[in-house]
Amino acid sequence: MSIIVQKYGGTSIGTIEKISLVADKIISAKNDGDDVVVVVSAMSGETNRLLDLAKLVDSDVSGRELDVLVSTGEQVTIALLSMTLIKKGFKAISLTGSQAGILTDSVFNKARIDSINNSTIKKYLNDDNIVIVAGFQGMTKDGDITTLGRGGSDTSAVAISVALDAKECQIFTDVDGVYTTDPRLSPGAKKIDNITTEEMLELSSQGSKVLQPRAVEFAGKYDVGIRVLSTFDEGNGTLVNKENDDQMEKAIISGIAFNKDEAQLTIRGVPDQPGIASLILGPIAKHNIDVDMIVQNVGEDGLANFTFTVPRNDFKIAMKSLEKSSIQLKAKKVVGNNKIVKISMVGVGMRTHPGIASKMFAVLADNNINISMISTSEIKISIVTDEINLKNAVNVLHNAFELDK
Ligand code: ADP
Ligand code: ASP
Ligand code: MG
Repeated sequence: MSIIVQKYGGTSIGTIEKISLVADKIISAKNDGDDVVVVVSAMSGETNRLLDLAKLVDSDVSGRELDVLVSTGEQVTIALLSMTLIKKGFKAISLTGSQAGILTDSVFNKARIDSINNSTIKKYLNDDNIVIVAGFQGMTKDGDITTLGRGGSDTSAVAISVALDAKECQIFTDVDGVYTTDPRLSPGAKKIDNITTEEMLELSSQGSKVLQPRAVEFAGKYDVGIRVLSTFDEGNGTLVNKENDDQMEKAIISGIAFNKDEAQLTIRGVPDQPGIASLILGPIAKHNIDVDMIVQNVGEDGLANFTFTVPRNDFKIAMKSLEKSSIQLKAKKVVGNNKIVKISMVGVGMRTHPGIASKMFAVLADNNINISMISTSEIKISIVTDEINLKNAVNVLHNAFELDK
């Protein structure tokens, strides 16, 4: 018998009525003859509520205890869904991450899955159960509860699909697939039927939160197909899988992602000499802050300006650290901006079509949208601009590159 894995996100199971609807969808998959394993998130808003509670105790809280707390959201939904299925006359059992055999490293709050011992899930499937597994969580080899970072239930679902050699991993959410850009920002966004894992990984990493980047990374590495589907509407959704010959012929740009969770810092008038970048970024790294984009402009008189972006949550600490370094470096000025957005255009077709970047910059210039940073890779061009430009920038690019066609 083949196995399918279905994952339901927070908005899909936000109320008892919705849980009942989800149970019906699961039953219909089971009646189609597959063994069904379901991964669920917490009810919508619950993870945020728990994080806010923790912040009332300690605004900088992180680590082990936070995972003990935030993992409870998923423990509620596995039980409620399992009860609903049982009430509807089916055999079902709920498993926490650790009960399901999900072993992770011990990086609390953003752990990575090391392995999955599938024997418990298999035992229950063999006994004709629908198995409901808590997403977002796992356990270290010492038995501590860990969580996988925001949006981590997607990764749980893909990893379980790999561990069970499932025929498909279906991600049910509140949109009916992956779009050319966030449909909540751009009404002109168009659903994509097929997208390569490589493009999806880039879109997710650049901020399209419809799938967690690690889930896509996993799917690519182990060659599992992910299908993104709506919980509330019928349709074929979007299939995310390996590049094939058809896709080589398709659109140059597959989508536009944006990330509002970044902030930009600039240190002006630092000596233009070897080692300066490491003197600036070293202290930032010591605070465990991930630096994303970096630009250095060499100015006049042997002085340079150095600009970089960090997660918005780390903006305050990064500013403090940079202000400290600026005294040591005899820099002229430190300026910060936490109202920026990174906008990225992604597409494997860029490899073979030059001129995308210049067109992108021209379109933005024609619309008076100022660019403060640029970075490119083989299949992506990212720019940073003021957050106020977000909607306009995405819409003019979407039109100019005819993504709605
Ligand atoms: P879930 O709770 O089901 O995991 P998420 O909120 O994490 O759902 O992800 C779904 C959301 O992702 C959508 O509601 C949409 O606003 C957003 N999103 C961002 N970029 C895209 C995109 N390119 N295509 C589809 N949805 C996107
Ligand atoms: N409940 C977790 C979160 O809100 C995990 C998930 O939804 O995937 O981030
Ligand atoms: Mg999600």
